[in-house]
Amino acid sequence: MKLKTLDSADLAGKTILYRAPYDIEVKEVRGILELVDDMRIRATLPTLQYLLKENCKIVILTYVGRPDGKVVENLRTTPHAQRLSLLLNHPVDKIDDCIGPLVDSKIARMKEGDILMLENVRFHGEEMIDDDVFALALCKGKDFIVFDGFPQAHRIHASTTGIERHLPAVAGLYLQHEIEILSKLLENPQRPFTIIIGGAKISDKVGAIRNLLPVTNTVLVGGAVSSVFLKAQGWALGSSFVEDVFVDKVKREKKDWVQEARDILKQAESLGKTIILPKDLVISDGVLTKIINIAAEEVPAGWMALDIGPETQKDFCNIILQSKTIFLNGPMGKFEDEKFSPGSRAVFDAMKNAGKNFLSETIIAGGDTIDAARRYGNLDDYSHASLAGGATLEFLAGKELPALVPLME
Ligand code: ADP
Ligand code: MG
Repeated sequence: MKLKTLDSADLAGKTILYRAPYDIEVKEVRGILELVDDMRIRATLPTLQYLLKENCKIVILTYVGRPDGKVVENLRTTPHAQRLSLLLNHPVDKIDDCIGPLVDSKIARMKEGDILMLENVRFHGEEMIDDDVFALALCKGKDFIVFDGFPQAHRIHASTTGIERHLPAVAGLYLQHEIEILSKLLENPQRPFTIIIGGAKISDKVGAIRNLLPVTNTVLVGGAVSSVFLKAQGWALGSSFVEDVFVDKVKREKKDWVQEARDILKQAESLGKTIILPKDLVISDGVLTKIINIAAEEVPAGWMALDIGPETQKDFCNIILQSKTIFLNGPMGKFEDEKFSPGSRAVFDAMKNAGKNFLSETIIAGGDTIDAARRYGNLDDYSHASLAGGATLEFLAGKELPALVPLME
C-alpha cells in the first residue's frame, strides 16, 4: 500500500485540517479532567512538528468517546489541547465548537504556526452519519487535510470519509508508520513469523487470524479465544467464558464461532501451518484456583479457565524465542487479576527478550494488550505498539478501511 505522504504536497504556509487520533478517555482527578494516557498524542508530535516547520496554520479535528450528538462536559477536547500544548511545547488554542461563524472567523484570523483544537466533533449528530453538508462545513477555510486518524479509519464518519470528499488529503507520519509496520507483517515478515492471539472475543479476531494464517508460520492461541478452539476440539470447558453462538436478530443471522474455530483449524492444516492451543490451564471456581492438564482432566462445572498453565507458558515462550517476527493481540488470561496474570506476563517477557537479545521484530496491538504491556514494563520494550485497536485488526484482516482509500497514491 503506497500512501500520499506529507512531502508529496506543498503544505508551506497552508491552513491544515489535521485529523488527529485523539479519541482518548478522560478521567476526573480531584475535580480536574485528565487524559488516562497520552500515547496517541505523543505519536502525533512528529507530524505536528513537521507542519510547524512548514509554517502551517493547524486546525485539529477529532472525536472523543460517544456523546451521541449532544454536548457532554467531560468529553470536551480541552484536556487534549492542554496535554498537546505541554508535549509539543507550543501554545494550542481551543474553541468550543467545530463548525459555525465563530469557528470560521477564528480560523480566518490564525497566523502561521498557530494551532487551534476544535471541539469534539461527535457533539454534532451529523458526524456519525457522514452528513455531507456538515463535512463541507468542517472543511471551511482549510486548504489540506493531514490525516493521522488511523484508529478511526475504519469508520464512515463526516470527520473521516466526509472531509476527504472535499479537500485533498495526505497521510500524517503517525498513520504512515502504522501502515508500514502492519503491511510488512502481511507482505514480507522476517521468518519464522509467530502470531499470538488471546483476549476475550474470537469474533474480533477471526478476520485477522484467517488473513495472517497464510503468511505466518505458527499461531499460538490463549485467553478466552483459546476456549473456543478447545471447545471446537471437543474439550469440556465448564463455566469458562466461551463466545460460541451469536444471533443477529436484525439481520436474522446466526454465527457459530465454535464451527468457525473448527474451520480455522482445518484451514491451518491444509496450509501446513501450526496452531498451538493451551495444553494446561489455570482454572478457578471463584474461591479456589488450580492447574489442570486438559488431556487428563476437564474443566468442571462451576469452574472457569482464566489463564494458560505453566507447561503452555513454557511452550509458547520457546516458540517466541525462536521467532524473528512476533505479533501479539490479546492477553493470555484475565490478567487484571494478579492470580491470572502469569501467563500474560511470561509471554510479554519472552517477546521483550526476543527483541532485545535476538533483534526480533515484536509488535503488539489492542487496548487491553497495551495496558498489560505497560503493567509489565513499557512500550519501548517492543518494536512497535499499534495504537489503533479495531482498525488495526481490520487492516490485518485485509479489509479496506474507507478513510485510507483517498490517502493512497
Ligand atoms: P485487546 O483489547 O488487547 O484486543 P481483548 O479486548 O480481546 O484484548 O481482551 C482483553 C480481555 O480479555 C481482558 O479484559 C481479559 O480479562 C479478558 N480475558 C482474557 N482471557 C480470558 C479468559 N480466559 N476468561 C475471561 N476473560 C479473559
Ligand atoms: Mg479490549
